[in-house]
Amino acid sequence: MSGFIPYGRQAISEADIAAVTSVLRSDYLTQGPVVPRFEAAVAARVGAAHGVALNSATSALHVACMALGLGPGDALWTVPTTFVASANCGLYCGASVDFVDIDRATWLMCPRALAGKLKLAKASGRLPKVLVPVHLQGEPCDMAAIGALAREYGVRVIEDASHAIGAQHAGHAVGSCAHSDITVFSFHPVKIVTTAEGGLATTNDPALARRMELARSHGITRDPAEMTRAPDGPWYYEQIALGYNYRMTEMQAALGLSQLDRLGAFIDRRQALAARYDRLLKGLPVTLPRRASQNRSALHLYVVRVPAERHRATFDAMRTAGIGVNLHYIPVHLQPHYRAMGFAPGDFPQAEAYSEQAISLPLFPGLSEDEQDRVVATLAQALAA
Ligand SMILES: *Cc1c(COP(=O)(O)O)cnc(C)c1O
Repeated sequence: MSGFIPYGRQAISEADIAAVTSVLRSDYLTQGPVVPRFEAAVAARVGAAHGVALNSATSALHVACMALGLGPGDALWTVPTTFVASANCGLYCGASVDFVDIDRATWLMCPRALAGKLKLAKASGRLPKVLVPVHLQGEPCDMAAIGALAREYGVRVIEDASHAIGAQHAGHAVGSCAHSDITVFSFHPVKIVTTAEGGLATTNDPALARRMELARSHGITRDPAEMTRAPDGPWYYEQIALGYNYRMTEMQAALGLSQLDRLGAFIDRRQALAARYDRLLKGLPVTLPRRASQNRSALHLYVVRVPAERHRATFDAMRTAGIGVNLHYIPVHLQPHYRAMGFAPGDFPQAEAYSEQAISLPLFPGLSEDEQDRVVATLAQALAA
């Protein structure tokens, strides 16, 4: 038996290494020219007017919520089937968090559940301020439906596209914000493109972009037009809002720029491996998500659902065989921090049923067909046992 196969892994080239080392030999390690170049490149790539780079997608979600004015007394809604950061950003701002259940077939935010919940919330005067749909696995949510509901009820939308740089939805690149205010990407090493740690927010609204830039860097401005009075010298700056130090370094941006050159190739490779999984898994008792024909997924993850009664044994058998399968995700509302707010099992039945069946199989550009065959053979054996 050969080595351990993780569920995701970065693909670093000699060009990536050269890009990072050349920054290390340059004058600026932070606050230099490379971060703005990376921001412009990502924004151009996804068809957005503005890009704001941050030290993580978690920070990007936080500054996005700040820019939209989320605060105490407000509510943020997301799905339970996501990484905790999609919900935590609401708590950072002092808002409350609630969830919309996923669709049984797509495993993404269910537009029907959203419509019903918005109607009830309106009747009781408790509409959320911000909605965070999540493009799980890199498959875009039904943004046309979600965006229409958000407009109807006056709710702002942040797309959590941590899994979905390079994905397309109905002729729009994810990140173009065709149906949202802001889109957030993650560049953690398991994601599609990496900067080690890093994130980026896109928007078409210059005021939102500026608020996110200020929140990223202490709320400090050096632009006289934004100051409360005329500067008394070239040293003068003003803090005009409360911000953080959420900046991306020049080395990270250089890595991201170099990786971005291969985004198309990364997704082609993920698509090819996923199509091969689709073929190899035929006949096994696994369920795949319904994928919308107007989408091109970025295929960050390849998740299958197995019979709940085989879930634990399948996980154990695959981990024992050196295959790093994972669960994306334990429903956020069942995390102790959220249960302490009153959430309980049974609140979001589709997300809970999904988490009792879902297994992420390894998928990354460097995965070989031999390794993929080993994954499928081990899965088949575990399901037959
Ligand atoms: C990875 C991830 C995040 C957080 O990304 P970081 O860059 O690690 O902060 C947020 N949401 C989702 C859905 C993710 O997968």
